[in-house]
Parts: sequence; structure tokens; C-alpha cells
Amino acid sequence: MFARMEDEEEGEMKSKMIIKSDDPIGQDILSGNLLNLEGSLIVMNNPENKFIIEVYCDKANAVEIEWTFTDPNNDNALMTAAYNSGTIKLGKKDDALAEYWYQHQTYVITKDESNTLKATTKINNYMSAIQFNPSGVGGDDFIIEANVKDSEGKIIKIVKSQLLTVVRKMQFDDLYNMRGVRSLLQYASSANIQKYFNEAFIIYEAPSTSIELEDRFSIKYLAQYDRNNTLTHEYRWTEIAAPVDYNPPIRKSNGNIVATEKLTEEEKANCNSQSVKDKADSWKNRMLRLIKECQENWINDVKLENSIVSIDSYHIMYGNDDDPDMDYNPFLPCTGVPITIGGFTTYVGFGLWYIEPVGGMNMGNGIAAIPAWVEDDADLSNVIAHELAHTTNDVVNGRPIMYRYDFGPGDHSQTVREGLMEPMPYKHSDIIKLSDIEIKILKGYKK
Ligand SMILES: [Zn+2]
Repeated sequence: MFARMEDEEEGEMKSKMIIKSDDPIGQDILSGNLLNLEGSLIVMNNPENKFIIEVYCDKANAVEIEWTFTDPNNDNALMTAAYNSGTIKLGKKDDALAEYWYQHQTYVITKDESNTLKATTKINNYMSAIQFNPSGVGGDDFIIEANVKDSEGKIIKIVKSQLLTVVRKMQFDDLYNMRGVRSLLQYASSANIQKYFNEAFIIYEAPSTSIELEDRFSIKYLAQYDRNNTLTHEYRWTEIAAPVDYNPPIRKSNGNIVATEKLTEEEKANCNSQSVKDKADSWKNRMLRLIKECQENWINDVKLENSIVSIDSYHIMYGNDDDPDMDYNPFLPCTGVPITIGGFTTYVGFGLWYIEPVGGMNMGNGIAAIPAWVEDDADLSNVIAHELAHTTNDVVNGRPIMYRYDFGPGDHSQTVREGLMEPMPYKHSDIIKLSDIEIKILKGYKK
């Protein structure tokens, strides 16, 4: 893909500017139509991305090109207003140190050190070229100008690019569904999801097919995956939750070593004792470790990365109250001992860890899992868009999909309580839009 600006004089083409992607697959320049914008969209998930600008000019006295650009509406993100990790800065405006121009092939550039906005290259055989590194904030826009000069330094021709708007892109390698669980092909389509991200200048490219997972990966509870069980492929809650005699000893801050987790007769008679609380805590931590391990094994065995996956349920203790196994109580009779999970207080071996079923899971590596219980069209669209928004700062192939700040604590919006990342109250059967602050964050701004 390339963007082209042709300049016609007296009916014949005399000069032209061609903008090419540095990336050999050429997917970094998209049509502005995708966001109902003029010109082209330039994809800047990688803030170091550069574009090759070539200018052809047939004027015999043309000697060099002075390259510069304008910011239409003068509204590009200030360096101080945008994401800045110290090494990665998305905003460039008013940053005296920001570099925009880089040498392309043999077209040596000369720069005035006091002004990084401009650079000059020589014309050779009616052509010159340079590389342009724009800012990385969604919505920033540029018009590149090539001032063609003669040997006296007089501008004899100005060639301008079309409007170039910075976007970032979400692209998933695959869409999967567990066997027996509905495919998300329709719900995860661009037609359904792109609208959430238009204002954030994010292009969502939907997977075109849904791949059904093999039986061994198609289990009821993803986070109870047992890679060594060739029959059911899944741990049963009654097995994994059973207290064990000695698993493993825990050393308390006072130096005492406490064996876990099975209660002694003495402890059963005194549920409020510290040793019962310690065992409850140890049991909880063992369950959470297992959940994490099961999930990681499942991701590794499926070879899942950068994908959307339609699952049955996440884990029995995360709101799936129709399962008889859930009633198995491993901590009789001390069921009232409180345990804290993710800031949420519940009781050991009793009921569900979360009253509401988990709506969706961002599992890192650009993976969004959507459970089957979400059925309403609008709810399902919201859950998918919410999880996809989480994946944007996941790391895939060693690099964040796109650089941005967290929306809020836990990458939700607890401080705002509106928008798609933490809607309060949750509006069922209603499309929920990203809030202004969430859109700002997704574009690459600070809050
Ligand atoms: Zn979330």
C-alpha cells in the first residue's frame, strides 16, 4: 500500500510524492475511509515506525528538497501531554529533541541542529527521498511538504502530501471457539466492534474465520485444565479443593512453621483460631496457584497468542452457580473463615468467590476469552470490546500491542465509574461507550 499525491500542471504530471510503508507487507498505510477521514491512516503501534517519502520532480534546475510538515488545526499532542515511559514518548509536539527525519538509502540528509522539524536532501536523477517518523498518538495528523529548491536556494516547487492521520491497529491472529460453544465470528466482526474504537483512532481488524478447538482443549472450566488427564482433560473441583495433610508447610512471621491445610479435631472446635485462618489462607493460595498454572498450561498447549477465544466457563468458583460440584465444601465445619481474593472478601470453602460470573478474561499475550453465559447481543459486544481494550497494552512478540497508560487501578476505571472499562451501574442490553478519559488513554494521552 502506498499513498500518492500527484501534481498535475498543464495537464501533464510534473512532480509527485509517494509515501510508502517501511514494512514489507505494507500494512502500515490504510485508507482514511476506514474512519471516514480524508487522506491516509498511518499505523503507529510501534512509535519507531518510519515512512519512506519519495518525491519525483522533473524540473531541470531542481537541486535539493527541504522537507517539513504542517499539523492541520494545530492540534497534535504535546510531548508533555502524552504517554512517556522515559524512553518511549508518543507525543512530539514542542519537544525540541524530537526527531522526525531519517536518512533513506543514499539520500544523505542535512539538518539545522536548532530545528528538528526540517531536513534537506539532494535531488539525484529527478528524485529524492527521506524517512519520516511521525508522533505516536492516535489522531495526530500531518501534511508533509517538499520544498524543491534550485542551486540558489530558491523554492521553485512545493509538493504536498495528502492528509496523514496517525492510528493504531488491533489485529488478532485467530478467533477460536471451544467445541460446543458458539463461535464469536459475528460478534467479533469489524461491523460490530469497530464503532467502539473509532474515536480512539484504533483500527480493529477482525479475524475472518473461527477455528474450533480440539476436544482436549474444549473443557467446561478453562482454569481447571488438566494436561495430564487424557480422559476428561479437566480437574474436578472436588478433587483439587480437598484439603491435604501437609501441603506445603508455611512459615509465619513469628517463625512458626504451620502444616496445611487439613483441619485437626482441635482446630475444628475453634474455627476462629489463627491456625485455621492460616490454613484457609494457604488453601486459597494453593487454589489460585493452580488456576494460574492451569490457565498457562492451556494457553501453552493450544499455542494461543493474540487471539479471541470463545470458552464455556472460566472457573467453577467464578460465578458458575449451576454446577453441583460447587457445593463441595472442603472446610467443614469452619466455613465462615474469611479469605481475601483480589481485594474481595469471601469465605473459605463456601459458595462462589465472585457473585457475578466473570464477564470476560484478558489472559495476557493479546488473548481475550469470552465465556458462554454472556448471551445478550449488546452485552456480548460490550464484553468483547472491553476485553479487546484490555489487550491493547498486552505484550506480543516482546512488544506492547500499543503503548498506553492503564485506564485506572487494575486497568479498569475505578476512579471514574463510567465508560466501558468499569461501568457503574452496569447497563444490561445496552451498548456502552468508552468514556472520554478511556478514549484519551487509548489514543496515547495521559489522563
Ligand atoms: Zn476488565
